[in-house]
Amino acid sequence: MNCRDCQSVLPDLLLDPAASSNSRARAHVDSCDECRLELESLQATMSLLDAWEAPEPSPYFDQKLAVLLREEQEKAPAGWFERMRSRLLFNTGRQFRPAIAGVFALALLIGGGTFADFASHHVAKPQISAAVTDLQVLDNNDQALQTMDQIFQDENSADEVPAIPAS
Ligand SMILES: [Zn+2]
Repeated sequence: MNCRDCQSVLPDLLLDPAASSNSRARAHVDSCDECRLELESLQATMSLLDAWEAPEPSPYFDQKLAVLLREEQEKAPAGWFERMRSRLLFNTGRQFRPAIAGVFALALLIGGGTFADFASHHVAKPQISAAVTDLQVLDNNDQALQTMDQIFQDENSADEVPAIPAS
């Protein structure tokens, strides 16, 4: 076994030093200073990670978040365009796909002219800022989005079922 092969199996050797599949790597490490140093540095890193503890969140986290939310709610309202922009920027792909489907479904339901009126109505008197609205909408619609995801998955799996040949 050469040094390159040995170093590619070093993680295995680190996790299970006694395994029989690691016997050749073990023999190489015993005879090669460079690979032994590499293994020792990996062991040092692993033991450092074992000792590391994730820091506790600040005890005032919830209060601070509530204050920030209230401040955002009292801020000047953002326009419709700004809200759409932040929605496009911050939505993850998983939430975005059903959201698009929802928007198209809504447009189909209400119809072109009525939908335009609906949108301009929202421009006229937005109540609170974009971030707060989005947070609340995401919170309220989480259940609905999961349902829509489920529907997408069901449709996809239904597509994959092969058609039963007519006898
Ligand atoms: Zn070596």
